[in-house]
Amino acid sequence: GTNKRAYNFNAGPSALPLEVLEKAQKELLDFNGTGMSVMELSHRSKDYDAVHNETITRLKKLFSIPENYEVLLLQGGGSLQFSMVPMNFLQEGKKASYILTGSWSEKALKEARLFGEPIIAASSKENKYRNIPALNEIQLNPDDAYIHITSNNTIYGTAWNEFPDTGDIPLIADMSSDILSKTIDVSKFGLIYAGAQKNLGPSGVTVVIIRKDLLEKENTNVPTMLKYSTHAESNSLYNTPPTFGIYMLGEVLKWVEELGGVAAIEKRNKEKAGLIYDVIDNSNGFYTGHATPDSRSLMNITFRISDEELEKQFLVEAKEAGFVGLNGHRSVGGCRASTYNAVPVETCRALADFMVEFQKKYQ
Ligand code: PLP
Repeated sequence: GTNKRAYNFNAGPSALPLEVLEKAQKELLDFNGTGMSVMELSHRSKDYDAVHNETITRLKKLFSIPENYEVLLLQGGGSLQFSMVPMNFLQEGKKASYILTGSWSEKALKEARLFGEPIIAASSKENKYRNIPALNEIQLNPDDAYIHITSNNTIYGTAWNEFPDTGDIPLIADMSSDILSKTIDVSKFGLIYAGAQKNLGPSGVTVVIIRKDLLEKENTNVPTMLKYSTHAESNSLYNTPPTFGIYMLGEVLKWVEELGGVAAIEKRNKEKAGLIYDVIDNSNGFYTGHATPDSRSLMNITFRISDEELEKQFLVEAKEAGFVGLNGHRSVGGCRASTYNAVPVETCRALADFMVEFQKKYQ
């Protein structure tokens, strides 16, 4: 029953909407009168085709994706995009700019070095990735093939609250941990990619939003499966797609639509994150946020308790109280609450209340 649902703050894969899981459960053995699960449908069947196309159409509409963009449903996660981007758009002797705002940006940069000469255009590493570099710190090079950013830094809990204007240079963003959490102007970007498993659905599907003119700029010596154009030309049906994940993605999109769309979910996300940030800000230093306030993420709230023993105790008691996934990433420690789209307001309120009670008890 629903009363057994966990207070799930996992960073990814993470919570899915209860309503979506219940619908998938209901349709598991007989999807749409086919007598089969979506998992058992041929990916060339009419029934699957409808799921596939509706999912793409729905994402275009919900995220206000302009006509001159393709939506691709791929595999390999955000991590394969770290390689596919430079493999298609960078080459020996060519430059691209990378802005370092955390470990995922560093991983993207590492892959780019295999194909060309990426430049670090700005970095907040010296400041322990507590902030997003100011827009006027970013040195743009007119010869760049593209500029790469990580829109939300899952591990450090920071996010770009304003995107750089890169003129004719395509802006490429890893939106794995904040896609569809707030309204954005897609037309500012050449390419957006995101693994589905945080805000969109289960792991196994990777969403790529690519401006059509970039498809003509791909390098030629790229393996077929790793070219964006292969998937654009075949409506993401070049080979067997992750059909069940795409169905779940479609159901999550319907759920967002029913909540009132992306603007409504943004409002809800601000309320949710606000509940927890308020506790941190009103704790007289008992809790300290990792991110500087102007760079705070709505999706990953990172904080510490100055006394290390007490921090351990916090994580133990939180676990006992039924909160899941509050340990910070293994590389940085501390605490992190991931409050993706599917995490209910009540779950965030329960954590905020727990944090207040914990402080009262121990300070
Ligand atoms: N980019 C960001 C911002 C992430 O948070 C993650 C995973 O947490 C990844 C990329 C890697 O994604 P995947 O596991 O889908 O390869």
